Amino acid sequence: MMQTINLVFNKQKEACNSGILMPLKKRKQMLRLLRKVLKNNLALLEEAIYKDFGKSAFESYATELALIFKEISLTLENLDDWAAVRKVPHGLAHFPGRSRIYPEPYGNVLIIGAWNYPYQLSLGPAVPALAAGNCVIVKPSELAPHTSAAMAQVINPNFPPEIFHVVEGGIDPTQHLLSLPFNKIFFTGSTRVGKLVMKAAAENLTPVTLELGGKSPCIVLPDAHLKMAAKRIAWGKFLNAGQTCIAPDYVLVHRKIKEDFLQKLIHEIEKNIGPDPLKSEAYVRIINERNFNRLISLLDPSKIYYGGKNIASERYIAPTILTEVAWEDPIMQDEIFGPLLPVIEYDDIEEVLRKLQTLPQPLALYLFTSSKKLQKEVIQKLKFGGGCINDTIMHIANPHLPFGGIGASGMGSYHGEDGFRTFTHFKSIMIKGTWFEPPVKYPPYSKFKHWLIQQLVG
Ligand code: NAD
Repeated sequence: MMQTINLVFNKQKEACNSGILMPLKKRKQMLRLLRKVLKNNLALLEEAIYKDFGKSAFESYATELALIFKEISLTLENLDDWAAVRKVPHGLAHFPGRSRIYPEPYGNVLIIGAWNYPYQLSLGPAVPALAAGNCVIVKPSELAPHTSAAMAQVINPNFPPEIFHVVEGGIDPTQHLLSLPFNKIFFTGSTRVGKLVMKAAAENLTPVTLELGGKSPCIVLPDAHLKMAAKRIAWGKFLNAGQTCIAPDYVLVHRKIKEDFLQKLIHEIEKNIGPDPLKSEAYVRIINERNFNRLISLLDPSKIYYGGKNIASERYIAPTILTEVAWEDPIMQDEIFGPLLPVIEYDDIEEVLRKLQTLPQPLALYLFTSSKKLQKEVIQKLKFGGGCINDTIMHIANPHLPFGGIGASGMGSYHGEDGFRTFTHFKSIMIKGTWFEPPVKYPPYSKFKHWLIQQLVG
């Protein structure tokens, strides 16, 4: 296994040195090939995701493959522009000559994916990585073994390994990959493993982008459109059974509207997945036993307001709402990453904002209010990766919005042009003319030169 990894790694280093993906034509060819092999293998990819956690073909297309196809189309349309050498002002002090920025690939790139949206998170970042001209190794999560195998099966026979290759495996191969001197590492996963990745990357001074998680709050104000808030929160929380990095982790709702909101929320949950989610094709299972047990340990029976039913043998946990929750409760300590929704009521929004300022900076935040003043205040006062006003999740689906965290929820971002920039080194070059050289910078320094430099530079 390690030998195969070394072999592919060395091939990719050589390929990078030979400038294999410097021609934009070749990069576009790779993107079109990726779209083609994914489209040709849709049935296989959808079957694999169903085997991993019971996700329907519709959902896996809508929340995974569609986003990849959208990224590919947008990139193909704009690559010439994004990758163009840029002219920048040169300045009189540097006369004669010109200054240019050359967008360049980093070289060979490692992408480590999480299991919860396996295609979107492993193959999605490969789109900007290839577009920027890098050779790419993707390491999907071993926790979703069928989708991991499907990606290897679809990518490896269709792409030259020196350009794009999928390496499967768990912690050992990943740690081996992390020990190699890649030119860039792009990691999606937990904050805990993100720290290990950054430590390993530091050994080789490899730049990292870390797409991590966190507890993303959802705040509902009395002046919100309550029915719409309930609809959009119900969808965003229980999509993928809450196993979404930007799912609303918990809801903060004003005491005055709490009961009304909760009734509307239950109505919307049942509208989406019926009164018995066990029978719904729109409701997925928990990825493995370890996560199932972790979630059950957070489920305080005395606080269940709705749901709570679970079946260990099926790794099934019904959509569950918990009330009378306190900030000190175990469920409020770490990202939940499952279909449990704690609801905390509040009286004073300013107090809520002060509390949120003391917590680790989350990947997302959702605010439901019609007050423009409060919208502005929350955007200005709180630090979080990104989010929505009066919606959940959907900011991830607009490739014109950079996606990424801040602080404990990550560093760096991608999607659209931002993804291209994430995988690009901007090489600055000054090209000088040789027919003239002003004597100002050379000693001996005189009073006149001192005066002149002040006039030139300001
Ligand atoms: P994880 O951190 O356990 O695993 C992610 C990857 O790291 C996997 O490929 C895994 O093989 C590898 N890995 C695990 N342990 C390792 C170790 N000790 N050394 C080296 N590599 C190791 O995360 P997960 O369970 O797959 O995903 C869930 C987490 O990811 C949640 O916190 C979620 O919020 C976060 N997430 C973030 C985003 C985002 O875009 N920001 C998207 C999805 C998930």
